[in-house]
Amino acid sequence: MTDFDATRAMFHLPEGVIYLDGNSLGPLPRAAVERMQGTLRDEWGEMLITGWNQAGWMEQPRDLGDRIGRLIGAETGHVVLGDTLSIKVYQALAAALDMRPDRRVILSDSGNFPSDLYIAEGLIRALGRGHELRVVAPEAVAAAITDEVAVTLLTEVDYRTGRLHDMADLTSRAHADGAVTVWDLAHSAGALPVDVAGAGADFAVGCTYKYLNGGPGAPAFIYVAPRHADTAFPALSGWLGHDAPFAFEPAYRPGAGIERMRVGTPPVLAMAALDAALDVWDVVDMGALRARSIELSETFIAEVEAACPMLTLASPRDPVLRGSQVSFRFEQGYAVIQALIARGVIGDFRAPDIMRFGFTPLYLTNSEVREAAHRLAHVMQDHLWDAPQYRTRAAVT
Ligand SMILES: *Cc1c(COP(=O)(O)O)cnc(C)c1O
Repeated sequence: MTDFDATRAMFHLPEGVIYLDGNSLGPLPRAAVERMQGTLRDEWGEMLITGWNQAGWMEQPRDLGDRIGRLIGAETGHVVLGDTLSIKVYQALAAALDMRPDRRVILSDSGNFPSDLYIAEGLIRALGRGHELRVVAPEAVAAAITDEVAVTLLTEVDYRTGRLHDMADLTSRAHADGAVTVWDLAHSAGALPVDVAGAGADFAVGCTYKYLNGGPGAPAFIYVAPRHADTAFPALSGWLGHDAPFAFEPAYRPGAGIERMRVGTPPVLAMAALDAALDVWDVVDMGALRARSIELSETFIAEVEAACPMLTLASPRDPVLRGSQVSFRFEQGYAVIQALIARGVIGDFRAPDIMRFGFTPLYLTNSEVREAAHRLAHVMQDHLWDAPQYRTRAAVT
């Protein structure tokens, strides 16, 4: 079992705030402050460039990769950190396409995050070999997997609705038709149990600033299945993915295994915060996390639906088919979220009409969830959202 009071105590949570947006940016783990200060003062400050060897900066992308690997069911030594998720999508997709040179279709769905689709479009342009990005409805993915498909590029949990794809089933369907799978775990890692090895995934990528609480701009991760690790070709062939970076050879030779998916200098300061954030997971059982996440989201849905008939549930009703977020549709959703934030409940809005609420058992309690639903009901019933100050959209929604 997991002591969620103990994990909650590991976070700095601002006074008077109920935070239902940990699916977008996790809160500050208390230990991250000390850890970053230590890295600044004792490592960068005192060791200067010798920190690369003395403080193990160069191994960090692999060490932290293994810590994340345990949360997503990856084999040890097959996950590495670095860059942003958009870049990791590019790397995984390029390597996967390279494995199916005779096929031209990248299959994705309309629930995928735009950056993943934009990256696919950009890669198609750069390759100039006539690839097609085929985007179908999430429910139509299984039927759209054919022997034309080179790669399936899917995000397991839909960022808008929280709908959960069946990774094992879609992966085996893709393999049966000879396609390679790239799974984006942005809303899965730290949100629910994931088993990339068990599902047979070929590539997986994800970010660490959402449910993993690594902080704004924390580095992304990439997993390459062991069977592809020494053959997948890195399209972003940077020096730290070279087999011998410090030999400074004129020509590129890919490094062994997952090392080849590194590109350039790792973000050491950001990794220090992430390392502290990952300590929290050492005491967490993923089964217990999932059970609690379902309990919190079921409470929220029941309370909101009982009090707010004007809102429409946009997430699957069956919790088995959801990630760890719940969304409701409302035309004036942006204003509702602003009115809610003004009353101490932070959720977010995704165009055109989705109000999103993330449920993060590490630091969220049942009574907070009830209170959040209660404040939402107040905003809806008394039309508190219908005020000019809640209509002006900020750059980040
Ligand atoms: C959050 C998210 C991203 C963001 O990518 P960055 O490069 O980290 O900004 C990309 N894809 C998905 C599916 C996401 O949920």
